[in-house]
Amino acid sequence: MQRTVFAMVVCAFAGQSMNAQASAARRAPNPTGRIPILEYHLIGDKDSRWGRSHTRFRADLALLYARGYRPITVAQLVDGNFDIPAGTSPVVFTFDDASPGQFSYVEVNGRREIDPKSAVGIWLEFGRTNPEWRSRATFCVLSGAADGHAFFGEKGIKGQKTAWRFEKLRFLADSGFELCAHTLWHANLSKYSDQMVQEQIARSVLAIDSAVSGYRVRTFALPLGIWPRNRALVRAGSWRDPRTGREVRYMFDAVLLVAGNPVRSPGSPEFDPGRLERIQVFGNSLEATLDRLDADGDRYVAGGAGRPSAASARQ
Ligand SMILES: [Zn+2]
Repeated sequence: MQRTVFAMVVCAFAGQSMNAQASAARRAPNPTGRIPILEYHLIGDKDSRWGRSHTRFRADLALLYARGYRPITVAQLVDGNFDIPAGTSPVVFTFDDASPGQFSYVEVNGRREIDPKSAVGIWLEFGRTNPEWRSRATFCVLSGAADGHAFFGEKGIKGQKTAWRFEKLRFLADSGFELCAHTLWHANLSKYSDQMVQEQIARSVLAIDSAVSGYRVRTFALPLGIWPRNRALVRAGSWRDPRTGREVRYMFDAVLLVAGNPVRSPGSPEFDPGRLERIQVFGNSLEATLDRLDADGDRYVAGGAGRPSAASARQ
C-alpha cells in the first residue's frame, strides 16, 4: 500500500514537471516583455525581511523553473545575450553583501566541500537535476566589511577561513556566475566626497581583481540604493593608490538599485542599464511578481535565438 502511494506521488511529481516544461515550450515569444531582477541578502535557517531560509530558497528555484524561467546574469541582460531555450523566460538572481550563507565551505573528513545548505550549494544541486538551470547569477560582493561580509566570510566566522575567500570568487567566475562590485564596506555614498566615492568603488574593483586577475567588473550595486552627490561617479571614475602610485579606473555597464519592478527588455528604448530596479525577495513577493507579469501579459519570452534585437522589441 505504502509502495503504491509512493509511486503515485512520484508520477504526480513527474507529470507536473513535464507539464511545466511543455507549457514553457508552448509559450509564444515576447521580446517586449519585462524581466525580473531578484535581490537576495542572507540565506540561512529562517525567513525574515532580509533573509531567506534554505528551504524557501530551494522552493524559489523550483517555482521559477516550473513556471518556465531560466537564469541569466546582469551582464547577459545588458548585452541582450540570453543563453536560454526558446519559449522560456529570463530571470536575474542578484546576491548582495557576500555573506557566508550565500557561499560557504564545510570540511568533511578533512576534505573541503561546498556547503550544500549555502545558496551556491543549493543552486548547483538544483542544476544537477535540472540541466537548464545553469550557473548564471550575479554576486555583488563587499571585500572589507565586518561580521563575515568580506568575500563570503573570514576569521572563522561561521566556520569560514580567510584563506578561502579568493578561491570562492575564482570558483564563481570560473563557473559562469558574475562578480559585481558593492563598495568596500557598504558605504553610504551620499556622505562622502567625490574622491572618497571613487576610492570606495575603485578599491572594491581592485579587490576583485586581486582574487580573479584581469576580471572585468561590469556591474555595480548601489549600497542602500543611495546615490553619491555626483551620480556620474557611479558609472565611471578613477583612484590613485598612494602606496603604489597606480591609477585604478572603473567603468560599469550596469548599476543596480535596491527596489522596484521587473525591468524592460534590453531591446526597448526604455531599458536603462544605469538604473536597474530589483525585486526584494521576502514573504510572497516572488510569487506576486510572477503572477502580475502573467496577468498583465507583460513577461519576456525568448524566441528562437533567445536574443532580443532593438528592432523586434520596437515592433
Ligand atoms: Zn548591500
